Amino acid sequence: MARVAVVGAGAMGLAAAYHALKLGHQVTVFEGDRVAGGMAAHFDFDGLSIERFYHFICKADRATFDLMAELGISDKLIWRDTSMGYYVDGRHYRWGDPLALLAFPKLGLLDKLRYGLHMFLSTRRRDWSALEHVNARDWFVKWHGRRAYEVLWRRLFDLKFFEYADDISAAWIWTRIKRVGTSRRSVFQEQLGCIDGGSEVLIEALVGAVEGRGGKVRLGARVSQITSEAGRVTGLVVDGERLAFDAVISTVPTPFVSALVPGLSDAAKARYDAIRNIGVVCVLLKLAKPVTQHFWLNVNDAGIDIPGIVEFSNLRKLPDTVVYVPYYMPQTHPKFTRSNEAFVAEAYGYLRKLNPALQPQDLKASQVGRLRYAQPVCPPGFLAKLPKVQTEIAGLQIADTCFYYPEDRGISESVRYGQLMARAVTEPAVWEAEGR
Ligand SMILES: Cc1cc2nc3c(=O)[nH]c(=O)nc-3n(C[C@H](O)[C@H](O)[C@H](O)COP(=O)(O)OP(=O)(O)OC[C@H]3O[C@@H](n4cnc5c(N)ncnc54)[C@H](O)[C@@H]3O)c2cc1C
Repeated sequence: MARVAVVGAGAMGLAAAYHALKLGHQVTVFEGDRVAGGMAAHFDFDGLSIERFYHFICKADRATFDLMAELGISDKLIWRDTSMGYYVDGRHYRWGDPLALLAFPKLGLLDKLRYGLHMFLSTRRRDWSALEHVNARDWFVKWHGRRAYEVLWRRLFDLKFFEYADDISAAWIWTRIKRVGTSRRSVFQEQLGCIDGGSEVLIEALVGAVEGRGGKVRLGARVSQITSEAGRVTGLVVDGERLAFDAVISTVPTPFVSALVPGLSDAAKARYDAIRNIGVVCVLLKLAKPVTQHFWLNVNDAGIDIPGIVEFSNLRKLPDTVVYVPYYMPQTHPKFTRSNEAFVAEAYGYLRKLNPALQPQDLKASQVGRLRYAQPVCPPGFLAKLPKVQTEIAGLQIADTCFYYPEDRGISESVRYGQLMARAVTEPAVWEAEGR
């Protein structure tokens, strides 16, 4: 069997390594960071081990459930009744079920019926081909009308995608609506999952399973080059050392690919370089009091420049209130380089607006996580822009979170792709079946 190198020890890389070992390959994972987990990695937050970036699980996340079952950690999966709120122009509203929609005063009855019907049909839809060339804004305006788009969506898009806000694929946003919209106990009750102990439990179980099967996970090992000769991968370079492999699976974000793989043609590099990503500055706050009773709160308020907050302790039971305040933005945005202190001060100021009962002394701890490439931007027609996972270099597969478009980035899809990449080492037809 093959000597397989996996670049990246996030969910995709570790799942690829685990499944490649099961298929009998000899596997080494190279991770540039000092911890495994990638976007799902934990850190020490004032004595609490927690994800740098919030993670919830939906009922559609089958690949995660299957993997957890295989790893013997299904009992760590916890489901909770969760709720959503909407803060619009200085007031809180309930959101996320038909009664909340009917009671929402910012829209007329017809707009509400159109919105409700659209959301319902989106959770039932299976085929996304008709949405592939449709712009998300046009799709929403067509279904709900302009007023509902302005009230419910425009600011969310603007504050997440900035200059790309009007160039987002309807197919991509549809999968998000469907994934969350079907994670319910009943039409009136949303239900989300989390892992008891956090995503780290899954990451550690994967690392353990990889090492238990004889694989190696090398942390702090940044790959500087993936090498090839005469159109076939030969291995990689790490810490100045050339290592030989028969197959390489890269799971690093696409913006890194063209520099990492000099053997790719200019045309292939241009395809990776054309995929845009936005970054995130994610403020994490520990508080003495809750902000709301909701897991998530969407915000549409001229004085608050974020699209929402995630009150994580309303999902995973924690000793204190823990809130994530994500600032998504392109790296070119002037705010991106602001200091952590400036982000914390602003974010806590917003929370105090959302809940005036919060006092300065209620802020117990804060941390800021930053990622330069946190969210791929998927415009209409994105499928045709995606490179093939099996590259033009034999033995080299490359994917990141945008490759499973129209699905949004998520642990479950990364895990599923990791498994497919492992199989494709000897079975390239896997990608034909997947349409990639
Ligand atoms: C703010 C935020 C919120 C999220 N919320 C959710 C959620 O609620 N639910 C959910 O399911 N998913 C969520 N996600 C997405 C989820 O975290 C990702 O889809 C998943 O973790 C991606 O795993 P991956 O292995 O594909 O990529 P990554 O985690 O990006 O892994 C790639 C790895 O490659 C490493 N690397 C890069 N370059 C090199 C190199 N040259 N050499 C060696 N290693 C290298 C990186 O350090 C990284 O560890 C969220 C993500 C973010 C950012």
